Amino acid sequence: MFSRTRLVLGLQPRLTFSLPANSTRNAFIARRLISNTSSSNAQHANSRNQQEQLSSRVDERHSHSAHILPQEVDAQGNQLNAYRHGPSALDKAVHLFFFTEIIRGMWIVLENFFRPPYTIMYPFEKGPLSPRFRGEHALRRYPSGEERCIACKLCEAICPAQAITIESEARMDGSRKTTKYDIDMTKCIYCGFCQEACPVDAIVETQNQEFSVETREELLYNKEKLLANGDRAEAEIAANLHSDHVYR
Ligand code: SF4
Ligand code: SF4
Repeated sequence: MFSRTRLVLGLQPRLTFSLPANSTRNAFIARRLISNTSSSNAQHANSRNQQEQLSSRVDERHSHSAHILPQEVDAQGNQLNAYRHGPSALDKAVHLFFFTEIIRGMWIVLENFFRPPYTIMYPFEKGPLSPRFRGEHALRRYPSGEERCIACKLCEAICPAQAITIESEARMDGSRKTTKYDIDMTKCIYCGFCQEACPVDAIVETQNQEFSVETREELLYNKEKLLANGDRAEAEIAANLHSDHVYR
């Protein structure tokens, strides 16, 4: 009924517009529109073909999955249920009906309520730090007070952030020393490469992590600042380097 209604309401105007053009193509289209019997047969034939193709694809997919996951069978060759070891429908229904998940969740909350907290009251309490912790930089001196740095510039060369700038000059005895040792801490990524590259353990990263400042300029460290850091934390730096020396 709907197809006839459509023919009356929808196709007649199209016929009106297509027929005056006297061409073979239009005549063919008009014939297809008028005799919808043949087109519907063609549609049925098409849908049958599509169904056959679809079912063959589904069969193919089944055979493929069966190839990947071989189904379990018993001694008699009967197919076994892959979910037989899981909870039964009755188990699931009981858990659902009695809200057991909620009770178990509340029990875990109750257990943790009486446990000591995992958090600490920072900054009044502080957690342990590894001797390898990489914090604020420092330049070290020998016990005699002489600077360790020999201005080899290995740290400057290896720094991936190009945060280190060194200028040097010769000493009276022919060795070299730095006249400028700057680190732009805003560029530093705390990779520790400078510390690893240094042949005399002059540049190190201390365990100080609390050096936040209010301006960017305060994070442009010069040699005096780095040496002062080293003087302040020398005992801690030496202890950390000693505890780590077996791995270096
Ligand atoms: S820790 Fe890494 S990024 Fe920072 S100054 Fe050293 S080498 Fe450069
Ligand atoms: S800090 Fe170490 S690596 Fe860098 S220039 Fe001085 S001696 Fe060389």
